[in-house]
Amino acid sequence: MDPQEETRKAPAVETIPCRLCEGGVMRRAAIKPYNVNVGIALVVVGVLCLFAGVLSLIGLIMLLTGGYLIIAKKDVWLCDRCSAMVERL
Ligand SMILES: [Zn+2]
Repeated sequence: MDPQEETRKAPAVETIPCRLCEGGVMRRAAIKPYNVNVGIALVVVGVLCLFAGVLSLIGLIMLLTGGYLIIAKKDVWLCDRCSAMVERL
């Protein structure tokens, strides 16, 4: 197959050269910007507060914050050579 046609068909595998190392290639990646374990802990404590019937407002806030920490994602460029990470704008 014609290699030029191949690149036109697959714009999703777009890469950029790494600025921090020689010859590295940065690829699109999605990372978790927050600590998922902290999010899970917040959800657990939040649910416990809700079930206990005390601090229910604080429990709800913890639940929502924890849920956000768990599902939040950040789009970045990730270098496959030096593991440098650049935020995708
Ligand atoms: Zn690099």
